[in-house]
Amino acid sequence: MCELQINTKSKSYFITIGYDILHTLPQIINSLSPKITKILIITDTNVAVNYLDEVKSKLTDQFDVLDFVIPSGEQSKSMMMFEKCSSFALSSQLDRNSLIIALGGGVVGDLAGFVAATYMRGIRFIQVPTTLLAHDSAVGGKVAINLPLGKNVVGAFYQPEHVLYHLNFLETLPLSEMRSGFAEISKEAMLSSKEEVNWLMEHVKQITDLERNILKQILKMGVQIKNNIVSTDEKEKGIRAFLNLGHTLGHALEAHLGYSVISHGDGVAFGTLFALYVSENLFGVDLHFDEIRKWYNQLGFPLFTNIDSAEVIKLMKHDKKNIGNSIRFILLKKFGQAELHEIKQEKIHTLLNNFLDLFRNEKEL
Ligand code: ADP
Ligand code: ZN
Repeated sequence: MCELQINTKSKSYFITIGYDILHTLPQIINSLSPKITKILIITDTNVAVNYLDEVKSKLTDQFDVLDFVIPSGEQSKSMMMFEKCSSFALSSQLDRNSLIIALGGGVVGDLAGFVAATYMRGIRFIQVPTTLLAHDSAVGGKVAINLPLGKNVVGAFYQPEHVLYHLNFLETLPLSEMRSGFAEISKEAMLSSKEEVNWLMEHVKQITDLERNILKQILKMGVQIKNNIVSTDEKEKGIRAFLNLGHTLGHALEAHLGYSVISHGDGVAFGTLFALYVSENLFGVDLHFDEIRKWYNQLGFPLFTNIDSAEVIKLMKHDKKNIGNSIRFILLKKFGQAELHEIKQEKIHTLLNNFLDLFRNEKEL
């Protein structure tokens, strides 16, 4: 088992990562002060089928435990579901000393975290992530729900009491979800050092290579890198923006092709490749673009070559942070050295077309 301490301005808490560690959950809850009166587990339908009983069975002899199961998928990060969860909490008489457990992936973590952040002006919560991608949302304290016109528009910075990564839960995760999470891990390695990128390329050639030992190591690595960045910039004033590497194009692809059509990680992976391509072109540096493109291909990341580049540029420009005719991009001078650049829209359009041409004769989506 590995235990990492996360220090933020508002609080400090632990993330434990390992196999067969679910039995530590009651101890973790018992160590909280003031004492927990009641527990509400929020989870989704897929996770509930597999793991809700197992988690409850660890708690019911010591605590009063309730559960609320939401439909799986991004649509559940809604005002309506937020209201349903909060109303359930109230009708179940959760009080200020009650605890919410978020059992699931990023959707459950964001929604349950936001319910915890707002219920009676904030009650404590523990995250039990069940996806690889959720490591990203489990560090940094961002919780949120969506509005019909925008993702994560209503939210808060709110830290959990503990994050318990019982990795056995990841064993039923579909391969495509595992790949989606791995996109963020590889992005984090690129923000950290060339050594970490090399290590990943050497040890993970296929997503099926993510056996127990490797999975534990990459999660620890991802959490540590993200924590290093977030802890110096809790409220996103400066370097936290580097975590958006690959996301300018990634988010535009998700919006262009449909959020339920492509996974977040598949969009981010293609966006990261593009960021490497742009960095090499603008700075004349060597970021092993060709090697990484082959590696991503082996890992199964799809190529989105049939997109309408003008439309995608328009979507990238929508970001509120853009000024005038430029688009903000996180680029790399080298692995471990990111920079924020404002690039003229026309320049990005040309680069995007050239980039897409590179792949047009390869695998198509
Ligand atoms: P993320 O944002 O972390 O990818 P989601 O909450 O969108 O997470 O979960 C992705 C999908 O995987 C959802 O359909 C969810 O129900 C399902 N899921 C989450 N964890 C598991 C698991 N351990 N085993 C099987 N399916 C899971
Ligand atoms: Zn992301």
